[in-house]
Amino acid sequence: MPGYELWSDAERKEVTDVLETGVLMRMGFDGLRKGHWKAREMEGELCNRFNTKHAHLLSSGTAALITVLTAMGVGMGDEVVMPTFTFVAGFEAIIAVGAVPVLAEIDESLTLCPKRLEEILTPRTKVIMVTHMCGSMADMDAIVAIAQKHNVKILEDSCQAIGGTYKGKALGSIGAAGTFSFDFVKLITCGEGGAIITNDTEIYTRCDQYSDHGHDHKGKDRGADLHPYIGVNYRISELNAAVGLAQIRRLPEFLALQRQNNALLRQTIEEHQLAGLTFRHIPDPEGDTGSFLSYFFPTEEQAAQATVKMGEAGLTGNFYWHNNNWHYINKWYHLKAASAYNHLSTDYRQRIMDAANKPVPQSDAVISRCISTAISLLWTEEQIIEKGHKMAAIFRECLG
Ligand SMILES: *Cc1c(COP(=O)(O)O)cnc(C)c1O
Repeated sequence: MPGYELWSDAERKEVTDVLETGVLMRMGFDGLRKGHWKAREMEGELCNRFNTKHAHLLSSGTAALITVLTAMGVGMGDEVVMPTFTFVAGFEAIIAVGAVPVLAEIDESLTLCPKRLEEILTPRTKVIMVTHMCGSMADMDAIVAIAQKHNVKILEDSCQAIGGTYKGKALGSIGAAGTFSFDFVKLITCGEGGAIITNDTEIYTRCDQYSDHGHDHKGKDRGADLHPYIGVNYRISELNAAVGLAQIRRLPEFLALQRQNNALLRQTIEEHQLAGLTFRHIPDPEGDTGSFLSYFFPTEEQAAQATVKMGEAGLTGNFYWHNNNWHYINKWYHLKAASAYNHLSTDYRQRIMDAANKPVPQSDAVISRCISTAISLLWTEEQIIEKGHKMAAIFRECLG
């Protein structure tokens, strides 16, 4: 799963370039930096690889979400649709711009269920945030059709699916914009970092300005820039970008390994022909990044039991999301209570709470039966086969 597993001389070399000049900032200081522009180069790599006109690096994936929502004009009282299964950054970003997160049901793709999408759209819906969760994609054709019909923009949170594709297009490049995270546990890491990719020049320009105190970046002299709009500072440092640059160049290597390990684990488990065990629905299997192998048991009890038994058997990296503190709505107590340190209006808090406390029986039925196994890049073939047989034996017991 994470790129830190394969730390190498390539990353060290890029960092050394920056340490030699000491120019730790991504822009300016042209004379001192001896031609090193790590952030800029990484943005170029992102555009080339994912075939988009623009890419912009930021200090985190969360900063990327906040920045792009701002650039899309989302603000006070608007509604943004997001899935019940994602990372907390989704609603953090929506609330940071003053909008209301509206929770959408998921299906066995572990992403937004297109069949349940239309019923939650309202005239206030500004953006549908699609999260390509656990390395694999949402059913984009169906979601794009609904978004177009209702004239709503799509933001693809691709923080967990870098390098994945849907019908040949890079995840993140299909909607109006897409985001990536390079935090320490992501496939491509630079310690802390994030990015947006887009073909929309207006969205890009706004992201570029907003994330750097509103600087218009029109001239050569930063001090003489104008500031037409209010911004913040979500800049990435040149040191982080240097690591990211080396890592993004290794994406094909990481993806190939991850997909291979994922396929072998699945094949080993499937050899046991376990009646009742089913695998995640993947709308375009070719585009799966393979970072997790996700599967379903017929009942919640069986999934919970399998999780415990795998733990007892020393099998690590298995996630039972239903009791995970981060990723599923049932544990988002702070969202359900609209608890914030800053003051929120009574009306706004109520709208957040109403949206977050609506029952989501379809998502519960999916997540309570699901386990995801994180795929390591370091496993040997033998280890994978051994693991697969051990898992299958446990699953057989639980399936009864
Ligand atoms: C990691 C992640 C983020 C946020 O990224 P950070 O860089 O950790 O801020 C956003 N969305 C999803 C789905 C993620 O997995």
